[in-house]
Formats: sequence, C-alpha cells, structure tokens
Amino acid sequence: MSDLAALATEAASCTRCRLAEGRTQVVFGTGHPSADLLFLGEGPGADEDVAGLPFVGRSGKLLDRMMAEEMGLTRADCYIANMVKCRPPGNRDPRPDEMATCRPWLDAQLEHIDPRVVVTLGNVATRTLLGRPEGITRLRGQAYPWDGRVVVPTYHPSAALRGTLGAMAAMRADLVRAKQALERATSVTIRSRGG
Ligand code: SF4
Repeated sequence: MSDLAALATEAASCTRCRLAEGRTQVVFGTGHPSADLLFLGEGPGADEDVAGLPFVGRSGKLLDRMMAEEMGLTRADCYIANMVKCRPPGNRDPRPDEMATCRPWLDAQLEHIDPRVVVTLGNVATRTLLGRPEGITRLRGQAYPWDGRVVVPTYHPSAALRGTLGAMAAMRADLVRAKQALERATSVTIRSRGG
C-alpha cells in the first residue's frame, strides 16, 4: 500500500463484515492526507452513504461551523473518518465485531495520515478508541494521551442538534481544547524536528 488514495481504492471493495450488504458505497474518509487533526465519528448515515463522504448532512454542517468558529479551520485542513466505513442499517450503532473487523482500515488511515490530535465524536467512537466503559458525558472535558497522539472526546454533533442539554456549549469548549492540544503538539514537533 503506497499511499492513502491506494488504501481508499482497496477499501472501496471491502466485504469483510455484514455492513457491506446494505451499503451504497464505502465511506472511507475525506480531508488532508497528512492532517495534524482527525475527527472520528462512529459510522456513515444515510446522506453519507449516498454521497460517499463522511459528515455531509446536518451533523456535518454543524461540525463545519463549529470547526470554523472555534478552531479557525475548514475540513480541508483536517481529516474526517468513522470507526466503520459502511452505513449500519437503520442508522443503528455499529456493533463491536463490525468495528473490530473494520479497524485495520482505521489503523492504516492513522498510520498514513499520522495526526497529532484525534477528536472523537460521541459515545461509540470515544469508548471504542480509548477502550473505556464510561459514557461521553464522563469522558469529555479532558485530553487523553493515546498511542503517541492526543485524543480529545466530545459529543457527536447530532446530540447538539437533538438539543441534549449543554451539548452545544460542551462541543465548543472541547474544540477549543483540541485546538490547544494541536498547538502544543505541533510546536513540540516543529521544535524537535528543528533539532
Ligand atoms: S464496515 Fe469496514 S470491514 Fe465492514 S465491509 Fe465496510 S469497509 Fe469492510
């Protein structure tokens, strides 16, 4: 596998788990191929399944807006992906065995892109990546060292859209936290690369 595009091409025909049966297409991910910041959701929804891109519906528009307002970034500055690359039927949560089967694609994305900071969006992505049993309400609000990177958990934008109490303000605070983590991580990288 030479690069991210080749990886995406290979993933496009993946049938390793049952989610292949109901998908329109594999939603591999989108964004800068060597982004320092990666947003990680749980799986594609109906809009994403049709478009072939992650976070293109109402949740995605909210994410774009918050990213711009709190971090001064666009989706071209970062990378956006999901735990599973195919839409779970009826928009249910992806199951643990599906996430485990799909995990090599995510691991390869992380290896190729090599982001410094990963923002997990919602319960499923946060618990699974961190390997923690607590819910997002408990886990958000801090940054976690993880596999040589920093994970900053926050709510899924759909929680903010549903009006979950405090979710919108918490997301904004978490994105500011992620921006600070990014600034710290990239300045350390620049210093260490500079000698
Ligand atoms: S969800 Fe992942 S493992 Fe399952 S078919 Fe899609 S790409 Fe393959």
